[in-house]
Parts: sequence; C-alpha cells; structure tokens
Amino acid sequence: MSRRIYAKKSLSQNFLIDTKIKSKIIECLDLNHNDIVVEIGPGRGALTERIYNNVNKFFGIELDDDLYSYLQLKYQNENIEIINDDARKIDISDFIKNDIEYKLVGNLPYKSANKIILNFLNSLPKPKFMIVMVQLEVAKRIIGDEKFRGFLTVLIGIYCKSEILFKVKPTSFKPKPKVNSAVIKLVPYDTPKVDDENIEGFMDFVAKSFVSRRKTVLNSIAAGNKISKDIVTQLLNSLQINKEFRPQNLELDQWLELYYLYKNRYE
Ligand code: SAH
Repeated sequence: MSRRIYAKKSLSQNFLIDTKIKSKIIECLDLNHNDIVVEIGPGRGALTERIYNNVNKFFGIELDDDLYSYLQLKYQNENIEIINDDARKIDISDFIKNDIEYKLVGNLPYKSANKIILNFLNSLPKPKFMIVMVQLEVAKRIIGDEKFRGFLTVLIGIYCKSEILFKVKPTSFKPKPKVNSAVIKLVPYDTPKVDDENIEGFMDFVAKSFVSRRKTVLNSIAAGNKISKDIVTQLLNSLQINKEFRPQNLELDQWLELYYLYKNRYE
C-alpha cells in the first residue's frame, strides 16, 4: 500500500476530481498516437491516466518529491518519463530535440502559473499549443479582458495567441481552491512579436509605463520612463492614442508602435 499523500498548500496542490472537466481538457488536446505530450504537475495522475495510452511519448514534470515517487511507481510504461524538476526553470530541450513538436497540458500550480507559462513560451522547441488550467483572474489578464488587462497581457501577448476555453468551479477540485479557475489555450507564434535585440528594452519600457493603473498613459509613461511630458505627448499624438487612456487601455500593438517610435526618434 502506498502511503497517503496529503495536499501541500505551498505547492498549490488542488487535485482535479471532476471527471467531466478531465474529459473536456483531454478533448481539447486532440490527441493522436504520434503526439509528444508534456504535462506540468501531474500530481496523482488525474490527467496523466487519460493521456499516456493515446500518445507516442509522455513527459510529466513534478516538483513534489513524494508525488514524483508515487508517479514513478504507478507509471512504469515505456513511453512515460516522469521528471522531478521545477517547471519554472526546466530546460525542455534537455528532453525534446529541437524542431520536434509537442503539446503541453497542466492543471497548473496557481502560484507559479505565470512563470511556468513564460518558461515554455521562451524555450525551444516551442509547444504546438498549451492547454492549461489557471486561476480565472489570471486567465482574464492573459487574454486581455478589458477589466483585467495589464502588464501580463503584453508580456504573454508577445509570444502567443490566447483564449479562454471554459471556466471551472472550486468544487471540481480537492481540496477546493478559494478562487474560480479557467482552462485556457495558448498558441505560440512562429516568431515572437519582438525580436531578441529589442525584447529587453521593450519589456523595460512597458513595465515602467505601468507604474500606476490609475494614472493616464501620458503621466505614467513619462514618470515611469523619465521622459518629458512634451515628448510623450508628441508620441501619443503621432499614434493617435488618447492621452487620457490608462496604461491597461492600450493594445499590445500600440505598445509596440510607441516603443519603436520613441526608440527611433529619441534614443
Ligand atoms: N494535475 C494534477 C495536480 C494539479 S495540482 C490534478 O489535476 O489533479 C498542481 C501540481 O503541480 C501538484 O502536483 C504540484 O506538486 C505540482 N507543482 C507545484 N509547483 C510545481 C513546479 N514549480 N513545477 C512542477 N510541478 C509543480
């Protein structure tokens, strides 16, 4: 008998118990026998058990030592590799060769969801798509819902297209999380919207422009980046962006236009 494993709050362990939700996630993966699938945080195998039989190769990345040992014992099939590592930092190229396509899935640990998503968006090979469960509010920030749009929307929007597939209630998990959840789909672009040379400068510019969600873009960009208000006014006018907007009202493409215009004219 394996010993009982208790959920660890520190690792955001909320195990999926709702079979309908499990089925819906699996359906979204559109599995076929050639697929390579990477699952983040398999936990006790709620999704794993429905995936590995239907694919060519399965990788599960689990940080918790106890759950890792449990999964190792439970799944000894040839096409399964369980990896005891941190999905925020793991380099997927150690396991999957460049140019090989894979699908990523996971009921993500909510505290680390952003970092995990960004790690996989930033690495090569890139996933064909990701189907991941996150906190509903984070899902809304990622897809750029009007009320939740912010720095994260821009950060993730550089790398991929995103959409909310469906919402999930706390009662679908054990233990129940305090928040609502959503399953989202992220589809990476072939090339990110900002090239390597500009990514750092662009992210710095946008991060500093988000000093306050309540300030106007004019004040926020000027104060955050230490650029004179005259110059910011000229930039906004050239791009016909309303000076009264708040930073979160701007679309990713407008941030890109602003950054490149500033860089080309004044730097
Ligand atoms: N997929 C399972 C468990 C989801 S809970 C289910 O749906 O039931 C989140 C899982 O992620 C837990 O197993 C937790 O141990 C694991 N985890 C937490 N932080 C992690 C990290 N940084 N890297 C990889 N796994 C992590």
